[in-house]
Amino acid sequence: MNRRQFLNFIAQAGVLAAYPGFAVASRLPTTDDVVFLTPSDSDYTMHTDLFNKRFNRHPKIIAVCFTEQGVQSAIALARGKSLPVAVRSGGHSFEGFSLNDDGLSIDLTLMNSFKLLDNGQFVTGPACRLMEMYEYLIPQGRLIPAGSCGMVGIAGLTLGGGYGIFSREHGLAIDWLKRLRLIDGLGKIHEVEQGSDLFWACRGAGNGNFGVVTQLLFDTLKAPSHISRYLFQAGNLTPQRLSKIAKLWFSISAQLPNEAFSAFVHNGKKLNILITSTLSTLTPGMSDLLKQLEQVMDKRLLDNTLELMPGIRRYYGKLTPLNFKNASAGYYRSYADIENVAEKIFETVSQGNGLLFQINTLGGAIRKPGQTDAAGCYPHRDYAYLGEIQSYWENPEQEAGAVAGVAQVQQLLAGNGINAHYSNYPDTNYDKWQTQYYGAANYTRLQAIKKQYDPDNVFRYPQSIKLG
Ligand SMILES: Cc1cc2nc3c(=O)[nH]c(=O)nc-3n(C[C@H](O)[C@H](O)[C@H](O)COP(=O)(O)OP(=O)(O)OC[C@H]3O[C@@H](n4cnc5c(N)ncnc54)[C@H](O)[C@@H]3O)c2cc1C
Repeated sequence: MNRRQFLNFIAQAGVLAAYPGFAVASRLPTTDDVVFLTPSDSDYTMHTDLFNKRFNRHPKIIAVCFTEQGVQSAIALARGKSLPVAVRSGGHSFEGFSLNDDGLSIDLTLMNSFKLLDNGQFVTGPACRLMEMYEYLIPQGRLIPAGSCGMVGIAGLTLGGGYGIFSREHGLAIDWLKRLRLIDGLGKIHEVEQGSDLFWACRGAGNGNFGVVTQLLFDTLKAPSHISRYLFQAGNLTPQRLSKIAKLWFSISAQLPNEAFSAFVHNGKKLNILITSTLSTLTPGMSDLLKQLEQVMDKRLLDNTLELMPGIRRYYGKLTPLNFKNASAGYYRSYADIENVAEKIFETVSQGNGLLFQINTLGGAIRKPGQTDAAGCYPHRDYAYLGEIQSYWENPEQEAGAVAGVAQVQQLLAGNGINAHYSNYPDTNYDKWQTQYYGAANYTRLQAIKKQYDPDNVFRYPQSIKLG
């Protein structure tokens, strides 16, 4: 929708303005396609708040775009002024990569229209939020496997891979992406699909590297009717007890059917183990696995089945900005990958710096044996687990301790050979990010694609693909 249509829509529906980043610029538009804001404009600060409050970035120009023509004008302006360009959809980048301090930021927040087509495909603007997608698709019986946090943007999530509680059964978000539109560093529009190098690159490494993705087209799948949830909790934890339970959890989660997902979440004080499943009945095998968990955990907090829509809503999480530092804690194949450092990690997380160590199950349909171009460039399909280290704080004086705690856990993992990381959980501490996110061979090919579509390196941030 363009600016005029958007304002009409807002006036009629009275929606969205409550969300951070959705505020409408009151200043007269430069055109119907884009509004350019500079720090002296009163509306400017409405577009500088990111989900991660740790960052306070101030681009020279923010281009609030409504249409592809608006994006082209923004790129032309940035090129004319030799400004680096950052791209923002949902604004949830862990490292705030969607805003820069010295350049032009393309804000796509209002390019968020979406529609389920008669053929069952879902076409969407880049800034549709995951919760908007679920609230729209699920009542129509359709689904795309993506993450669960409600305000994450569909573009940012998908371009890095995109996994969630349905991924073991149905794969990554990129596995359902069929086509996208992108405006490259020269301002040229491309519509690409399977068979194109650019499509391969955008399915795993598309975040702010080659251009601005303005539209995504997905296949959808039949949504399951229900989701079952089992949650176990333990307190009075020692690093030794945590390690013992972790070992058991790795073994149990490896036996789960693909319809199930599990998360191991140690928040320093308590350990929560969640299992979700879309199976209509509890198989004897799963019953046995749950019993084993019950024996080592203190209590079962949840054991229920909900209709999918209310079930998914339980995992939307916080919808408003937070102070945090989260990062990939690496991919693992089994407990053996972290066994040597598990106790030390649990000890560090327990030390009270607001740290949280989480491991999620992957595997199942994410795996693509003998990965070919058709699977996109996301290189971590063989791993069965993804770790994430998180820290949260309220007061500024807690920040240094929280950030140092994250680094400590990262060092332990790196020292133990954990070196593959998820590009959608980026961290500037990762100095070999090129291979850690993309793999060496893929990175070289991505550089060649960068050269073709963004030869002047217009799109750049600390961990963007570099020209060769
Ligand atoms: C609370 C929270 C929960 C999360 N949960 C999950 C999860 O369950 N599963 C999962 O896979 N990931 C998850 N993530 C990670 C998430 O996938 C990434 O943070 C994602 O990049 C966010 O996308 P965005 O559009 O919201 O963010 P943005 O900050 O707008 O963008 C993130 C990156 O993508 C680039 N980008 C954004 N839009 C475009 C575009 N249109 N064209 C080109 N480049 C673009 C930006 O330049 C930036 O580098 C979570 C993150 C948070 C903060």
